[in-house]
Amino acid sequence: MEQTIRVELSTTKKEKPKTDQLEFGRTFTDHMFVMEYSDPLGWHNAEILPYQPLMVDPSSMIFHYGQSVFEGLKAYLTPDGDAQLFRPERNLQRLNRSNDRLCIPPIDEKFALKAIKQLVALEKDWIPSTEGTSLYIRPFIISTEPYLGVAPSRHYKFIVILSPVGAYYKEGINPVKIAVENQYVRAVVGGTGEAKTGGNYASSLKAQEVSAKEGYAQVLWLDGVEKKYIEEVGSMNVFFKINGEVVTPALNGSILEGVTRNSVIQLLKHWNIPVVERKISIDELHQAYKDGLLEEAFGAGTAAVISPIGQLTWNLEHLVINNGNTGELSKNIYDTLTNIQYGKEKDPFNWIE
Ligand code: PMP
Repeated sequence: MEQTIRVELSTTKKEKPKTDQLEFGRTFTDHMFVMEYSDPLGWHNAEILPYQPLMVDPSSMIFHYGQSVFEGLKAYLTPDGDAQLFRPERNLQRLNRSNDRLCIPPIDEKFALKAIKQLVALEKDWIPSTEGTSLYIRPFIISTEPYLGVAPSRHYKFIVILSPVGAYYKEGINPVKIAVENQYVRAVVGGTGEAKTGGNYASSLKAQEVSAKEGYAQVLWLDGVEKKYIEEVGSMNVFFKINGEVVTPALNGSILEGVTRNSVIQLLKHWNIPVVERKISIDELHQAYKDGLLEEAFGAGTAAVISPIGQLTWNLEHLVINNGNTGELSKNIYDTLTNIQYGKEKDPFNWIE
């Protein structure tokens, strides 16, 4: 039997920030969705509530061993003023894959999508309308059983909060400088790299902090065993155009399967541009660069959609890609994906919900 969602409306409305002053993830809307899990009831008590702090016990397992998962997707306003989502079922499938890895009971994906749509519809006025802005959706699950034993929790909360976000590129799509990370690793095969869980992001902060001090936007992560094969860039998947062919690291268990990654691959196939998912080493990439065959490099993820790499620094050598400019293919992918997301271009893939 499908659950119903109890709705309690907020009696006050927060002031909405000006769209040119929006910072990522700092402002939250008036309402949130909350659902609870306990044994033997399962997931129950689905509610839309006024946005508010949580009451959780200090011994809740989330605070000690980090058993949690999250997702990130966006709602976009179309030129007709409708709210639309981009491939949300993919995020919910991934949430359940992350749940499985973290021993968290699965959620009903259809019900979760219904809840997200209902929450977004209620908060529609919060979706900013200027170019490139959107409403970021953050579903997450935390373990709430008050217990200090290292074991899967028997209580959880599934929460969805919403945050209006500004345009990622204020002055047009812009290439970034990336440092190849030789010391720290993000994930190893058999670990939690292909799950979206907080610990992966906590452990990535150090490398990010060091490289930021040296003037880099992000790091290029290599595999955790040989530090040889390319995995991801910052919190994005990575693509290289080498001699006319697009290469992205194959999913190997330590790479997060991005919704944007999958969309880029489908789009390239649709355009009859050769694209392969395979292992690619940093040595191979360096050789392609020296041979003049490395044409473009870019990260792909929900936040920036496409983030061109203008310079890659490896062992003190600066590889300047496409003269530090945004490549033509990167730009075309960016334009097509964002036009579909904002309902400005036909969606031949059925990606829009
Ligand atoms: N890799 C990591 C580690 C990420 O955090 C993200 C962002 N979710 C991505 C890749 C890109 O995934 P998506 O395209 O689904 O945003």
